[in-house]
Amino acid sequence: RLSERLERVAAHVPADARLADIGSDHGYLLVALMKRGVIAAAVAGEVALTPFHAAQRTVRENDLSQRISVRLANGLAAIEPADGITAISLCGMGGETIRDILDRDQARLSGEERLILQPNGGEQPLRLWLMDNGYRILAEEVLRENRFNYEIIVAERSGPVRYTAQELYFGPLQLQQRSPAFLAKWQRLLRLKQRTLSHFARARQAVPEEQVQELTQQVGWISELL
Ligand code: SAM
Repeated sequence: RLSERLERVAAHVPADARLADIGSDHGYLLVALMKRGVIAAAVAGEVALTPFHAAQRTVRENDLSQRISVRLANGLAAIEPADGITAISLCGMGGETIRDILDRDQARLSGEERLILQPNGGEQPLRLWLMDNGYRILAEEVLRENRFNYEIIVAERSGPVRYTAQELYFGPLQLQQRSPAFLAKWQRLLRLKQRTLSHFARARQAVPEEQVQELTQQVGWISELL
């Protein structure tokens, strides 16, 4: 059984995909999708030894060693051209980390892959990278599990795309859909940011003007949104 979060990620994996899951930790996502017959081939990439061994163990215990390759590698270096990868998942990492992994080894990307990204924070810099590299966002979700907000961003290369500053901040599709989970996330963040601003105002040490301005702009955007 997958967590609700990984279950929502799994829902964005196309049937018969050849999926590379980078930062796969225990390998749960790939094993579940393979057992369900959703994916045709799989590569699990892990940079750290303990999760790499954990993924090997999950794959072995499920008799899937012939169908899921588990590789110790940094980011996209886990992917070989012969894998014919059609989708890449990067889940449970900060948005900046996901961006850096995508940016570091762009030569490993054919440009045909669907990217299924589940950042924990740092969504704005990740969306900026997607825009700058010609990826269009095809689907977005916000979900809450165990008192955390998670976002899912699905993108494919499309040629030039333009998103406004607010679209990069909130998510272009989320802005349109205004789902209950999305609105609840931003209501909560608005309260937090307003509280931080009032702390700033009362702080004895000067807070950098830039930081105050950025936060004030965000509070303005969120207030407009809600
Ligand atoms: N993807 C799983 C999930 O969503 O449940 C596991 C998330 S876990 C919090 C993040 C994993 O990413 C860790 O196991 C970590 O070792 C791995 N990781 C971090 N940076 C990586 C990189 N550059 N290349 C491969 N794996 C990486």
